Amino acid sequence: ASDLPNSSVTSSSPVLPHQPVLEKMRLESELLDAIATNAFIPHYQPLVDLETKEILGFEFLIRWKSPTRGWVSPGLFIDTAEETSLILPIGRWVIENACTDLNRFNQALNRSLGTSGKTRPLFISVNVSARQFQAPQFNEELLEILQRHQIPHSQIKLEVTERVLMEGTSAINIIQQCRQLGFHLALDDFGTGFSSLTYLAKFEIDSLKIDQYFVRQMLTHPRTLALMKHILAMTRDLRMVSVAEGVETQEEFDTLRRLGCQIGQGYLFGKPLPFESAQHLLLENYRRPLAPTSPLLASS
Ligand code: C2E
Ligand code: MG
Ligand code: MG
Ligand code: MG
Repeated sequence: ASDLPNSSVTSSSPVLPHQPVLEKMRLESELLDAIATNAFIPHYQPLVDLETKEILGFEFLIRWKSPTRGWVSPGLFIDTAEETSLILPIGRWVIENACTDLNRFNQALNRSLGTSGKTRPLFISVNVSARQFQAPQFNEELLEILQRHQIPHSQIKLEVTERVLMEGTSAINIIQQCRQLGFHLALDDFGTGFSSLTYLAKFEIDSLKIDQYFVRQMLTHPRTLALMKHILAMTRDLRMVSVAEGVETQEEFDTLRRLGCQIGQGYLFGKPLPFESAQHLLLENYRRPLAPTSPLLASS
């Protein structure tokens, strides 16, 4: 059920060109329903140390199970949620669930490894929209939720896209505050959109998530490979953690590792999974880091 091939992302009626406003209104009211009926399901995709193949953390990726549309991926509703401010309650729900599940992951690890096992601090990465950073109470809410769940700030990473950095000073102030409070900031989808190196000069970003476009192209386009090489070198010089998104093949994995990329995320290591399956993958990985022959890899 966690699998979301494109064909399963359905819309009960096709969107006609002259109906975007109506469709948006319908989506908005369905999203309100989804919030009220708790129809969102957390999914977790592993972030893997490319050197040791250990799962270091998970990215929280939201899924919506709609009674009329079936499984809906965030690409189809996050924009509308942002425009309507519904991203605020959804975003709170995301952080709340990330914290609850981080404690559940850690408990499962402790149970499984006993007192002898030394555990690494696991982290969960959450995507945060510009709209959320602009909400004056964002900071306080974030702190309140973490405190209630007794989670150290360093174990929740905030993923922001360049759009967040472009959305004016209020967002930027909050980003600086988040950094001061000890949250780890990751720049998401790096290299696409409005990429500007001045952001990297201005902001203390902890990690760079290199967009899957580069991973997809680097093996066939020498120019992209050259860019990848230099993005990784720049990341090292700026003492940022490098993360490659969308790693699907062993060859991509080998190349990224050779180029010194630190962390990988992609179907090769695991698709976004519901909690139970992610936990299973985590426990397996703690016993034995993912081998190329792992059935979990072969099935992706
Ligand atoms: P993102 O943060 O860049 O997340 C990575 C996307 O790449 C995810 O799409 C993930 O499923 C997909 N992906 C991961 N590995 C592979 C791979 O090997 N191959 C391919 N082809 N794709 C891969 P998803 O889950 O559909 O999410 C799309 C976007 O929606 C996310 O992009 C993020 O910007 C946004 N999003 C997701 N969850 C949330 C959330 O809770 N809050 C907010 N504000 N945005 C979210
Ligand atoms: Mg992300
Ligand atoms: Mg991304
Ligand atoms: Mg993306």
